[in-house]
Amino acid sequence: MANGDGDAIVIVERVLQLLDEGRFSATYKHALLTALLDLCVEGADAHGAPPQMLTTRQIAEKVIAVYWPHVRVWKVSAPLLRQMNDTRQIVGSDTILGWIHAFRQRVELAGGATAPVVRARALDPVGWNELLDKVEWRLIEMPLPKLQRVGGQDVGWLYRIGWNDHDARASRAAVRAYQRGQPSPFNNAVHLMPGVGMAFARLHAVLRPFLQHHWAEKVASLNAQEVPQAGLHEFLFGVERSSLEPVREGLMQLQAGKCFYCDGRLDRGAVHVDHFLPWARHPDDALANLVAADAVCNGDKRDFLASTGHVERWRERMQTQHPLLEQMATLARWDVGADRVLGAARAMYLALPGETRLWAGRKRWEILENPRLQLALA
Ligand SMILES: [Zn+2]
Repeated sequence: MANGDGDAIVIVERVLQLLDEGRFSATYKHALLTALLDLCVEGADAHGAPPQMLTTRQIAEKVIAVYWPHVRVWKVSAPLLRQMNDTRQIVGSDTILGWIHAFRQRVELAGGATAPVVRARALDPVGWNELLDKVEWRLIEMPLPKLQRVGGQDVGWLYRIGWNDHDARASRAAVRAYQRGQPSPFNNAVHLMPGVGMAFARLHAVLRPFLQHHWAEKVASLNAQEVPQAGLHEFLFGVERSSLEPVREGLMQLQAGKCFYCDGRLDRGAVHVDHFLPWARHPDDALANLVAADAVCNGDKRDFLASTGHVERWRERMQTQHPLLEQMATLARWDVGADRVLGAARAMYLALPGETRLWAGRKRWEILENPRLQLALA
């Protein structure tokens, strides 16, 4: 399954079917599918091949990351967007969103500023682990065993897990023992079915926006809107630029005051923090994915992938300046995320068709150079 394009279309249709199946009263399946997609990309090896197995821990971490922006204040009249179709409010609720909201509030009240998820975990590691334990447990209990059920039947094309719902192997006690590193009958492996990882990695650029669109529509309907309001999509999935302030200066110094892309001198008052892998493709504020750029380069690059030469310099920075990145991360209480971002870069670049044009600089485009990319990303 899923080696050719025909199989890729089959996967898309199956994802659609899961989304249209109305068994979920919350947006958990959007979050879970998005998490699986992202992990398939981030886990790519040196040849761009996706992982065959994920863990419930990794999935929980990713689910928190994808929900992170959603628990901000939406607007004064409706501070938090509803993502469940019962009467429960998110605030204070015993739900994944309720826990994420409480943790984010606590971290931001203590730090006095908005914090990207990569920073929050460093600011409050104990609270982060508690949150992770709870979210992981809830995913094991409910969305993971139920996601693949269509019309009461388990279609099981996506992954295989070692427990069912209401299973003693995944009881709360068993999961708690596993989380404490004690002997437990619980096994955290989520085995992707053959071909799924490859199809997800290849279709990532299409499936991710598609899931977001579906997700925004669901949120709009849960919040009594006919169609997604202007700004809703951006609120849920856009970048929170203000939260990158604490690393701006450090990135500029790392680049000796020059723009990462054009090497021009950076004007201290107008330094932009750019996501090397575009946010729309890989929403990740990890230091490994951030570069300092001037307004022109940042504005011109938008959501495009940067050219081969930029990838080479980016990888070189990752290798030669890794100690400095680590130091910066410690000071700013941030996350370097080198493995994750490198995995995503491999999955994205190494799957591009030969004639793809990449952004090289202001109004300049270059055809990708595959052997050089392979070497740079090895
Ligand atoms: Zn520039």
